Amino acid sequence: MEAKWSQDLTKALLDGTTYSGSKVAKERVFSASMLGKEPYINMMKYLHGNFEQEEYGANTTGSLYQLGIDSALKDNEQYTIAKRIKYTLPNGWVISGEMDMIDEINKVIIDAKLIAISSYNKVISNIFTHEYNLQLAVYRWLMWKETGEEYECALHAVNKGGSKTKKNLLSNFTLELISLEEIEEMLIAATDELQKCIDTNTMPQIGCDIFKFGKVNGVANRCKNFCDYNKVCPQYTDSQYGRDAGFAKSLEVDDKKEYDPFTIDDGFNF
Ligand code: SF4
Repeated sequence: MEAKWSQDLTKALLDGTTYSGSKVAKERVFSASMLGKEPYINMMKYLHGNFEQEEYGANTTGSLYQLGIDSALKDNEQYTIAKRIKYTLPNGWVISGEMDMIDEINKVIIDAKLIAISSYNKVISNIFTHEYNLQLAVYRWLMWKETGEEYECALHAVNKGGSKTKKNLLSNFTLELISLEEIEEMLIAATDELQKCIDTNTMPQIGCDIFKFGKVNGVANRCKNFCDYNKVCPQYTDSQYGRDAGFAKSLEVDDKKEYDPFTIDDGFNF
């Protein structure tokens, strides 16, 4: 049994890293990180909101790293930390994003990512349709809406499995981004699609890229280990809670793939 001091510490760290964005279900808020995710999981977020974090997870580690950055930069006038901007689209959806760091001198929005070794190389290859590039492109768009200025965007990517001797511990790099106009079109298309599902009480046709983080015995790691909605997701719960490869087949996704390249909905034109 876990010692009380250990339980207390875990709880204290979870309390100290509570998600700062919208937690409420049925709110028409679309956060910047949702643009790089599939409509299906975004609909789950709309329906169920954000759950309280009950266990220490990979995102807890990321939040603790972010708190360290906040503390290191809090007295440095060059940087603004944890700036949230919201903008309401004509269709009524609120686009929301909290920026980790803004370098006010060089006009760069910087996001910190603590990344597993399996994803690190993909992230630093800096493809403009990667979910992190899309997330930062939304930040840039929000900043442009608020200030009229066009900031650059960058990642401060830390490799959790890296070592200094291999020189693969850290990469700071400027991101390739989709234009402001195209990002706005994508945001309108993504929120219109969710609204259509809400109005018709249906789920999006396109499911999740469930093998993004590999699989074990045919069960998608993404659903089992990395998705808060696995307990309420009809696709997951309807298939014996993902206990066998039948789950993979039920989603009609090619279960031979271990790591698919990230793709976005064909409905987006850019
Ligand atoms: S459990 Fe899997 S299919 Fe369901 S929302 Fe999460 S990632 Fe998508």
